[in-house]
Amino acid sequence: METKHWVVDKHQHNLESYPQIIEAAALLQANEVVGFPTETVYGLGANALSDDAVAKIYEAKGRPSDNPLIVHISTMGQLYKIAEDISEQAERLIEKFWPGPLTLVLKRKENAVSKKVTAGLETVAVRMPSHPVALALITASGLPLAAPSANLSGKPSPTLAKHVADDLTGKIAGILDGGPTGVGLESTVLDCSGEVPIILRPGGITKEQLESVCGVVEVDKAILTDNEAPKSPGMKYKHYAPTAPLTIVNGSQGFIQSLVKEKQNEGLKVGVLTTTERENKYEADRVISCGSREQLETVASRLYGVLRQFDESGVDVIFSESFPSEGIGQALMNRLTKAAGHRIITE
Ligand code: AMP
Ligand code: MG
Repeated sequence: METKHWVVDKHQHNLESYPQIIEAAALLQANEVVGFPTETVYGLGANALSDDAVAKIYEAKGRPSDNPLIVHISTMGQLYKIAEDISEQAERLIEKFWPGPLTLVLKRKENAVSKKVTAGLETVAVRMPSHPVALALITASGLPLAAPSANLSGKPSPTLAKHVADDLTGKIAGILDGGPTGVGLESTVLDCSGEVPIILRPGGITKEQLESVCGVVEVDKAILTDNEAPKSPGMKYKHYAPTAPLTIVNGSQGFIQSLVKEKQNEGLKVGVLTTTERENKYEADRVISCGSREQLETVASRLYGVLRQFDESGVDVIFSESFPSEGIGQALMNRLTKAAGHRIITE
């Protein structure tokens, strides 16, 4: 299949009337799949009302079909067609954080979206993205769009259109290139179908931000320990893994350097994922910085791109520094820990 590549400037007004967006929207209406930028990561969108269209997402990504998809909308009218029994608390969260990187799991209306979107669950995950290109595409298509991240299943999520092209060229109808994404990690998934909201996946909106609006918010135990079965089906899969095995190190620069030497003595090429503060202090085969340790937002936004750079660099093993688990750090460490397949060494 030919994969079209359209470049769009997200700063333009009336994007929904741009030829690139109209062409992409027409393909969505024809039940094809299209990659598009959001403020979290690039999404792979398809008509959420069509079994055929949604099946193409799973096929292109090689994604297990028991892992449900997030429905992306651009108006509140679309929300009320898809979900019901929306609590007052959920309404307040919507008021505060939409459009933005917060996905709400809500009670699903009967037959409102394809069963393939919800993988047979009674609930549906919905989000209104804030990226102007995403909103324009949804509006121009007139459809709610089912959209997971636009990467091959198991690869780091794409933060550039190039990442989407690397993974999915020939498998999807087109890619809208709106430049680098913002947050760089996926949305926060919050289960609002019960009494107390539960974070199923940490993301762009932090626990602290959610609590400022609705008091107590719980965190799914599976995020904090390895022993629980996650409530969010997708969280059980090994995600975001670079090709070379990655290990997180809780320790000093000297300790990390000693691990690097040990592996090099075994004849291996070693990569180190670090920050600007220590960028020039390691002797390794490849050292890549994610930005300053003082700005975890930047580190989060660069993480996936850096993991892909390691894939291209041909290193055999990677050691990563560890980050504080507060604010956006919770989502950052959640993704890094998954990328590391839970391999952590403490000094
Ligand atoms: P992705 O599409 O790759 O951003 O992943 C979407 C995440 O939302 C996965 O972890 C899914 O398991 C989760 N998710 C989607 N729908 C639901 C739902 N109805 N209940 C719980 N988790 C969901
Ligand atoms: Mg994903």
